[in-house]
Amino acid sequence: MLDRLQKVEVLRVLALPGCPLCRLAHEDEDRALRTLLREGSSNARLLGRLARAGGFCRSHAWALQHLEEETWRDGLINASLARPLLQEALDSLETPSTKRRTASRPEPATGGASCPICTTLASLQTSRALQLAGGLAEEELAHRFAAREQGLCLPHFRLVWSEEMTDAVRASLREVQRGQMRRLVEHLDGYLRTHHMHVTDEPSPEERESWRAAVAALSGEDHTT
Ligand SMILES: [Zn+2]
Ligand SMILES: [Zn+2]
Repeated sequence: MLDRLQKVEVLRVLALPGCPLCRLAHEDEDRALRTLLREGSSNARLLGRLARAGGFCRSHAWALQHLEEETWRDGLINASLARPLLQEALDSLETPSTKRRTASRPEPATGGASCPICTTLASLQTSRALQLAGGLAEEELAHRFAAREQGLCLPHFRLVWSEEMTDAVRASLREVQRGQMRRLVEHLDGYLRTHHMHVTDEPSPEERESWRAAVAALSGEDHTT
């Protein structure tokens, strides 16, 4: 059962184009980055996770850098987060390794933990999938979902599919997904056909967009641009 706020949120993304869970994931990511920027180096728990990971992944490191530059026109938070990480990496180079294999390639300063933002978002994605699966058991949400032309991107579809749900919800999820996939395959065929020699037809707007839609369907929406 969703609470009122969760229901409003799911209804909002169902009314927008694209995979609803990709949209929520993008919003969650943006919120996580803004919180991080606001709390900066005062969040001891985050600092611990960051130290264990040795930094953010490339995507989140740059997203945080761009966000700080856009928001504050400086890099104070990034600088204060990077300083101890670089110091630790430097310290790890001070003691030469005795192992032959690692002599020319110093050991990473980290224990191999993942980027803290990636970890947070992965667990949020699972709760979002659970939320959607639960929400579709409610009549209003099920109705809105069934009326959509578009289901979910395949990674999110698989995530939701793995949740517990009634047979009716599963059937509706499958039906919307099949409809989307079938149309997409037709549009891709049309697009490919118009590129054959001797075919003078122009692709339709849906066919022209089909290869971008196919990338989104297979791998998730790109909300960064
Ligand atoms: Zn998605
Ligand atoms: Zn990351």
